[in-house]
Amino acid sequence: MEAELAGKVSLVTGASSGIGEAVALKLASLGSKVVVNYLSSELGAASVVDAITNGGGEAIALGADVRDSQAVKTMVQEITDKWEKIDILVNNAGINRDTLLLKMSDKAWDDVIDTNLRGTYACTKFALRSMMKQRWGRIISMSSIAGRIGNVGQTNYAASKAAIIVFTKSIAKEVGSLNITANAIAPGFIVTPMTDKLPQEHKEALLQMLAVKRYGKPEEVAELVAFLVSDRASYITGQVIGIDGGMPS
Ligand code: NAP
Repeated sequence: MEAELAGKVSLVTGASSGIGEAVALKLASLGSKVVVNYLSSELGAASVVDAITNGGGEAIALGADVRDSQAVKTMVQEITDKWEKIDILVNNAGINRDTLLLKMSDKAWDDVIDTNLRGTYACTKFALRSMMKQRWGRIISMSSIAGRIGNVGQTNYAASKAAIIVFTKSIAKEVGSLNITANAIAPGFIVTPMTDKLPQEHKEALLQMLAVKRYGKPEEVAELVAFLVSDRASYITGQVIGIDGGMPS
């Protein structure tokens, strides 16, 4: 039987670690060629590519800062030069710079909005051309439960993740008739380098609030991405889907 994503080309931003890494590995395991985008972790991206190629898949690592539209445009050009198209875009690159609003610097605000929101805008804009031409595409953008309910110390992060939800709903309306779907995923607490740096007592308190009494794994988010990019999800668009172990909202 042919692999479910055979012949597809996927771009996963921020795939050098955490959720993006798990998504890249999952899409490759389903037969997609995968572009492992990264900002600074060249070694991390190379090891994701190695894991894919050692497993018989096809992948390349491309460094590009998603905040920089020109760098994104160049990356997309490199992908279409090599593999002719982009079918699946996973807007996963993201950062947090948590602090209470009164202590927040303009830089912390701008860095988070530029990476999470502007990055999603730029990657979607440039990847969309190929999807429109072929009249098929899947866009998945990583929001967060913080983008639905807000969080103390995360005004910048929550605002960027809330904006991703309405960006997704708008783009779904713009391109739906072309067989292109756009959905957002809102993870709760997933064990990755991003959450590793949270204070231990904060993590303990959070754990008690979860219905399932455990943190999520990047692989569990990757399973949701795999479903949403498949033909089995062709009638799902403009949605935001939570994956949070029953975090109270
Ligand atoms: P992570 O392990 O820290 O990974 C973040 C990734 O984003 C890294 O690959 C990093 O690349 C990349 N990145 C950062 N800035 C970039 C830029 N300007 N251009 C290109 N790539 C950039 O974080 P994660 O926990 O897996 O998070 C992945 C996504 O899920 C984020 O959007 C995050 O907001 C979202 N999310 C995570 C959780 C959670 O609990 N972990 C919950 C909700 C939402 P380099 O390492 O190469 O710099």
